[in-house]
Parts: sequence; structure tokens; C-alpha cells
Amino acid sequence: AKAAGRGKHCFYESSMHSEAAERQLLENDLRQAIERGELSVHYQPIVRTAGEEISGFEALVRWQHPTRGAISPAKFIPLAEEAGLIGSIGEWVLTTALQEAAHWPDHVRIAVNLSPLQFNDPGVTQMVSRHLTETGVRAERLELEITEGVFLAEGDTTDETFAKLKQIGVRLSLDDFGTGYSSLGYLKKAPFDKIKIDQSFVRGASSSTNRNAAIIRAIVTLAETLGMDTCAEGVETHDDLQLIRELGVSMVQGYIFGRPSESETARSLANTVTVE
Ligand code: C2E
Ligand code: CA
Ligand code: CA
Ligand code: CA
Repeated sequence: AKAAGRGKHCFYESSMHSEAAERQLLENDLRQAIERGELSVHYQPIVRTAGEEISGFEALVRWQHPTRGAISPAKFIPLAEEAGLIGSIGEWVLTTALQEAAHWPDHVRIAVNLSPLQFNDPGVTQMVSRHLTETGVRAERLELEITEGVFLAEGDTTDETFAKLKQIGVRLSLDDFGTGYSSLGYLKKAPFDKIKIDQSFVRGASSSTNRNAAIIRAIVTLAETLGMDTCAEGVETHDDLQLIRELGVSMVQGYIFGRPSESETARSLANTVTVE
């Protein structure tokens, strides 16, 4: 089957370049990526604005394709969602990240992205709970990052899942805030602990128009009123960092404090008190 797959691969590559064929090839490869050891998890620091100590790390999946090289999660995660592979990939990322976090000091959190499709699986709370038990990581150390996409398929189970996840003690972050189908209605009822302000508002905010700053300020006010933390994503420059500070954002994630890095690097960072 493997040899036939390879032959097909060459045929398609030389004769048809339609996007659909390309996706099919990639999907076939992705289906086997876990067992072939091609996936890994990188960790990017999330730093408290005050004091600059590390609050935690976000787990970000990486795919090293044997012939195509590194493929961005922005490309293969949507593919995994469409191909029904996000459940197994997402669960693998979760357990890998929790195993890694078990090596960090107990106050350092681990943030893991949860696809709306995973969130909408009725067994999600049990799945998360099982991996927490197996790795011995306290639930309070785990932050699940969820995008506004979960509210698209909103049903009775959405509220129930939020309640169950809060009940086991994990933290919930609203990811990419401001980019999706933002409705203030669900901010009111969903028990988020943190709002992650999307990079599109953050990057270059200090040098662009002051509209981005106004939006960030409004989000901070909203979050504070609702008792939620804020995190600015994509902070690359000192000017942006200074603005983010002035606007009262409580946490920062961005290249200025560190790119996503391999577990060894993250582990030594996790054990330092201050980021240089
Ligand atoms: P995201 O959840 O918004 O993750 C943040 C992305 O911004 C990461 O891209 C990170 O490397 C990048 N980033 C962080 N700081 C900076 C900065 O200062 N400048 C710039 N230019 N970029 C910065 P990455 O790792 O390529 O991931 C892209 C997206 O793929 C993620 O966006 C997330 O939506 C998705 N993703 C990654 N890993 C997973 C996963 O395990 N599960 C799921 N469901 N989605 C994932
Ligand atoms: Ca995220
Ligand atoms: Ca994000
Ligand atoms: Ca994003």
C-alpha cells in the first residue's frame, strides 16, 4: 500500500496541480504523521507585563514533512479539521504538552489550543480529565485556548461543556479575539479566564494609527469589568511592548520575549525567574 501510495504521489505531482489533488496528498501524509513521528510540539513563553516573569507557555504543534519540510499549522490544522484528524492530533498535542509541563515548576501554566471540533465532542471533558490524571498535572495549570469558532455551532452542549470544563478546574482563554464573529453576548455567558487579543490589533500598534490602541484599550476595559485577564499576541518590538504596558494588558506573548522553541529551551526558561 505504501509503494502504491508513493507511485500515486509522483503521478499527481507531475500531471495535476489542482488544489484538491494537492490537499488529498497532504491529507494522506497527515494521516500517518503521528505514527511516523513527524509531529512535535514547540512552546512559546507567555510573560506577565508587570515584573516580566513567565506565566506559562503555549503549546504549538509542528509538522516536519519528510520531503516538503516544515508545514505551517495554519495550513495543516484546517486540513486536519476537514479530514477528521483533529481529534487524534489535538489529543496527541495535549498529552505531549502535559507530559512536558510536568517537568516545569508547579506555578508555570501550559496553554493548549482546542479546535472547535474537539470542543464540540461530547467526550472532551473526560478526555482532558484523563490526560491530567495520567500526567499528574494540576487542572489549574492547564489553559485551553478556544476561538470564537465554537459559537458558530452553538447548541445546548456548548454551555454544558463550558460548565464541565470549569468544574474540573481548567482555565479557559478566548483566542484570536476580535477576528471572528465577535459577539459580546457570549463573553457574558461563557466563563473565560482570559482574552487573547489578536496579533492584527497588536503588531505595529505603536506606529500605526491610534485606532488599534483604542481597540486594545476597549478590550482591556471590557476584560477587567468581567474579571478576565488579557494577553497581547504578536508583540515584536519594544515600542509595541511599551504601548501594551501603558494600555494595561496583563500578559504578553511575542517574539520580543521568545519564539516558540523546543522543549529543552522551554524547560530551562521555565526554571528561570525573569526573562532577559
Ligand atoms: P495561534 O493559536 O493564534 O498561535 C499564535 C501564533 O502566532 C503561532 O503561530 C506563533 O508562532 C505566532 N506568533 C507568536 N508571537 C509572534 C510574533 O511576535 N510575531 C509573529 N509574526 N508571530 C507570532 P503558529 O505556531 O504558526 O500557529 C498558527 C496557528 O495554528 C495557531 O494560531 C493556531 O490557530 C494553530 N495551531 C497551532 N498549534 C495548534 C494545535 O496544537 N491545535 C490547534 N487546534 N491549533 C493549533
Ligand atoms: Ca492559541
Ligand atoms: Ca491566537
Ligand atoms: Ca491566530
